[in-house]
Amino acid sequence: QAKTQGRGQHAFFDIELRERSQRRLRLEQDLRAAPALGQLWLAYQPIVDLRTGRATAVEGLARWNHPRFGAISPGEFIPLAEESDLINLLGEHVLRIATEEIIDLRARNSHLGLTVNLSVRQLDHDRLVPIVRDATLVAGLPPGALCLEITESAIMRDPKRAASTLTALRDMGAQLAIDDFGTGYSSLAQLLTLPLDMLKIDQTFTARLGDSRDAEAILKSVIAMAHAVNLTVVAEGVETESQLGILRALGCDAAQGFHLGRPVAAAELDLST
Ligand code: C2E
Ligand code: MG
Ligand code: MG
Ligand code: MG
Repeated sequence: QAKTQGRGQHAFFDIELRERSQRRLRLEQDLRAAPALGQLWLAYQPIVDLRTGRATAVEGLARWNHPRFGAISPGEFIPLAEESDLINLLGEHVLRIATEEIIDLRARNSHLGLTVNLSVRQLDHDRLVPIVRDATLVAGLPPGALCLEITESAIMRDPKRAASTLTALRDMGAQLAIDDFGTGYSSLAQLLTLPLDMLKIDQTFTARLGDSRDAEAILKSVIAMAHAVNLTVVAEGVETESQLGILRALGCDAAQGFHLGRPVAAAELDLST
């Protein structure tokens, strides 16, 4: 009996595995056509200045409406795109949409900045700088209003190469942010040698505020170091008023999170607060 049960389980896992790899294959294929079919769109989440309470920028977050599977999260399709060269096509598409849409949003809030995520494959792409420059030019967006978010781990894969790409992006006028800070193993001291404008504290770190005195002490020193080199510090994933209070007390500059505003389509953004 144990034997047949074992075999039954085996078959069950086989089916699950097959379904998962079929979904994956299907998504990979469909993702290639998604930009041209208009299935990709961007949600925008406000980045709020903690002194004024106003949105100073919005982060553009990729969304995919799949005709059969419905909404696919970027947590699923960005890694798929990164495994192929698709990420460069997709990344350029995201940049084009975002730079166009921010123009309309700036009609409501003229100083509103835009941040866009770049993957490590885009950082390695030799046409990245001209692509970014072209997107801002076509949209008529001052390059300084665009901030590119790069994760700590993307930079640490090849720090030398990353440094030269970041410098080239900076030279064309774009701003630069480190995303998900606190999740990797890089030292802040090493990151601070790069030409950066913004440091985004990862949401797992924000989640510890209030529960952990250590987290507060660490964040306090991170903020001090960042401010010493003129970096703006943004806390991600703020979900409670109490986290917001702690961040204000620690001198954090800005925050982003469900408590302040969820990512929504450009037309639904509330920029009044
Ligand atoms: P990220 O850049 O760190 O973006 C923040 C993520 O946290 C977003 O998830 C956002 O919806 C979510 N978030 C915001 N506030 C809260 C909060 O209060 N609580 C919690 N639990 N989550 C919050 P999303 O939109 O699912 O994106 C996930 C990741 O996918 C992004 O993380 C980014 O790494 C990647 N991604 C999204 N769009 C793009 C893109 O256009 N290009 C690239 N390369 N990556 C992208
Ligand atoms: Mg980001
Ligand atoms: Mg992040
Ligand atoms: Mg992230």
